[in-house]
Amino acid sequence: MILVSEPVVGPEELANITDCLTSGWISSAGKYIDEFESSWAAYCGMKYGVAVSNGTAALEIAVTCLDLEKGSEIILPSFTIISCAQAITNQGMVPVVVDCELDTWCMDVSKIEEKITSKTKAIMPVHMYGHPVDMDPLIKLAEKYGLKIIEDAAEVHGGEYKGRKCGSMGDISTFSFYANKLITTGEGGMVLTNNSEYAERAQSLRNLCFERERRFKHNKIGFNYRMTNMQAALGVAQVKKIESIVEKKRDIADYYTQHLKFVESIQLPIEKNWAKNVYWVYGIILDSDHVETAVTLAAKLREVGIETRPFFVGMHEQPVFKDRGLFLGEHYPITEMISDRGLYIPSGLNLTVPQQDKIIRELIFILEK
Ligand SMILES: *Cc1c(COP(=O)(O)O)cnc(C)c1O
Repeated sequence: MILVSEPVVGPEELANITDCLTSGWISSAGKYIDEFESSWAAYCGMKYGVAVSNGTAALEIAVTCLDLEKGSEIILPSFTIISCAQAITNQGMVPVVVDCELDTWCMDVSKIEEKITSKTKAIMPVHMYGHPVDMDPLIKLAEKYGLKIIEDAAEVHGGEYKGRKCGSMGDISTFSFYANKLITTGEGGMVLTNNSEYAERAQSLRNLCFERERRFKHNKIGFNYRMTNMQAALGVAQVKKIESIVEKKRDIADYYTQHLKFVESIQLPIEKNWAKNVYWVYGIILDSDHVETAVTLAAKLREVGIETRPFFVGMHEQPVFKDRGLFLGEHYPITEMISDRGLYIPSGLNLTVPQQDKIIRELIFILEK
């Protein structure tokens, strides 16, 4: 089976892990935590990095850091992972969603303003599948209405918007280092910010909000979202490889695009002229008049040893949120369409050209016979 993605770790990671084990620093203190935080923050052009246990935890800490009133509204795309919406609902706030764009699959920034109310306090852009959100108009809106920006950059390590690194444009930004992300610590995440107050809060929140003056005395409820030094040891080695990883991802995508652009029944990922897409995954969307659906296509590809994954299901279509009375009667046609007709094909860092040729051949055979 050609997998959708596989993490690649090598001798550098192994050496760091061995060092961790032999030094005994296996918990959440140790030099690799500091080095991972500072090297990733520096790469992204942010002052402070706070490593946490995963990307969902990073989002939850980011939302909590803003210290917003309960009931505050945060605007995000419907087309995203549930981590974004539940980071909001878990803190007693209200997710308000907008549709995405047909070509970038990122939130449609032109749809944000009509959703702003007196309760709106923040916007959560999510760079989708490697392509950045159109940030300038979003930043303008945030300034106009005094809103904070939580930038979810979990799928776009190394991606750029008009030359600016993704993860450097929000008041707070978050990353995931799950095994299928561009760089990985197995499980892991990070909160980045230029705001020293947010950074301090994030450090406290990830570690149960222990007070400085008297340990085991607490003025606030936090989380245990600490990252271990062992995970950070992986991360330190991975950060050093980011440029070559991005290059490999872009090469894989370029090869697919060159060979699939003639297939009329599918839409491929794009790269806006202001964007650097890192193609975290390579998504395709099937035309609605094709006999195959995303489900039947995935099944046929699986039969010939090719793994795929369907696109996200919109937040407004989630039973768990509908049960809570959220998004009732709301429809977002582009989110619904791509969630129905989109899937992504293998683009792991181990993928070989012969494997890509096979995937291209099988896709064309199924779609054009
Ligand atoms: C992967 C991902 C997350 C969650 O990260 P985990 O480390 O799996 O918790 C959050 N947001 C987006 C956009 C993601 O793709």
